[in-house]
Amino acid sequence: MPLDYPDSFRELVRQFRRLPGIGPRSAERIALWVLRSRDAKPEQLVSAISWAHEKLTMCRLCGFFAEQEECPLCLDEGRSGRELCVVESPTDILPLERTGVFRGRYHSLGGKLSPLDGIGPEQLRIAELIERIGEERPSEVILALGVDVEGEATSHYLAEMLAPTGVHVTRIAQGLPAGGGVEHADQITLHRALANRGVYGQR
Ligand SMILES: [Zn+2]
Repeated sequence: MPLDYPDSFRELVRQFRRLPGIGPRSAERIALWVLRSRDAKPEQLVSAISWAHEKLTMCRLCGFFAEQEECPLCLDEGRSGRELCVVESPTDILPLERTGVFRGRYHSLGGKLSPLDGIGPEQLRIAELIERIGEERPSEVILALGVDVEGEATSHYLAEMLAPTGVHVTRIAQGLPAGGGVEHADQITLHRALANRGVYGQR
């Protein structure tokens, strides 16, 4: 029989390989770290996972993390219902929130269209979005999705799906990253930065 790792180590690696973005080599490195590192504290890892599983749910309205039916953002009556910002993932909400520019409401789709991975409109929270628009009647829906192929396809799909509701659909602007120069920007970014140009001082 060819030499292989002990079953217990193989099982540990197999479990880490289930995590998103972790390949076989990374899974082995993490498994080794768990076994060898004094900082790994396996009981704490296990209890953090159990605690989050037990305590956390997704807000029934916006899809952000919540410890009850609705999250603090949705329960905050000081927020405006006029603008609804659509994001891919619940982890997209805080970075946008921290800009301090937006005081409206959010809606996380829980992913983006990706037919190759078996993710179609039914796997995303699109029906919930349309229902919310019907109930909350925002005047603007802002699409804040990624600009990769799947993100673009999702934005396009949403714009078409939302057209019959009559809501004004916008998308966040694209352009150069802060601290980045024209010289190093790729063609697509430059094209969009030019196409989305604004009056000096107003952006
Ligand atoms: Zn919420």
